[in-house]
Amino acid sequence: MASIIDKCTGCGKDVAVAIGQSLANGKVMGWTAYHCSQCGAQVESDEAELPQSHRLAIMKTEGTWNLFISKKTTRALYALRKGLPISLNETGKLVLPGVVASGTKTEMELLCQQLARLSVSSELRKSSD
Ligand SMILES: [Zn+2]
Repeated sequence: MASIIDKCTGCGKDVAVAIGQSLANGKVMGWTAYHCSQCGAQVESDEAELPQSHRLAIMKTEGTWNLFISKKTTRALYALRKGLPISLNETGKLVLPGVVASGTKTEMELLCQQLARLSVSSELRKSSD
C-alpha cells in the first residue's frame, strides 16, 4: 500500500498517511487514512480525485500501468475518441496497436472496463520502467 507523509489535521505533526484508489460506481475513487499517534486522531476520507502527488506515490508502490490495445479497428478508434467518459491521453496521437493510456492500475482497470462495454478489448500491462 502506498503512503505519504502529511500533517495531522488535529495536531499538525507529521503522520504517515495510507493512500489508495478503488473503483466505485464506474469511477475511480481515492481514499486516505491515518491514525495519529501524537493526538489520537483517526482520519479516513474519500476523495473524488487524488492530487497528482498522491497518484505518483501510488504508482511508485504499485508501478505504472499501461493500457494496451492489440488491434486497430474503427470501433477501437471511435471508442477512444468519442466513447470514453474520461481520456487520459491525447487521443489524436493514438497509434494502434499500442499503449493508449497509462496511470495507476485502478485507473487503467476502469478504462479497460469502459472499453469492454464498447466491445473493444484491451489489456493491462505493467510498465517496465
Ligand atoms: Zn495528530
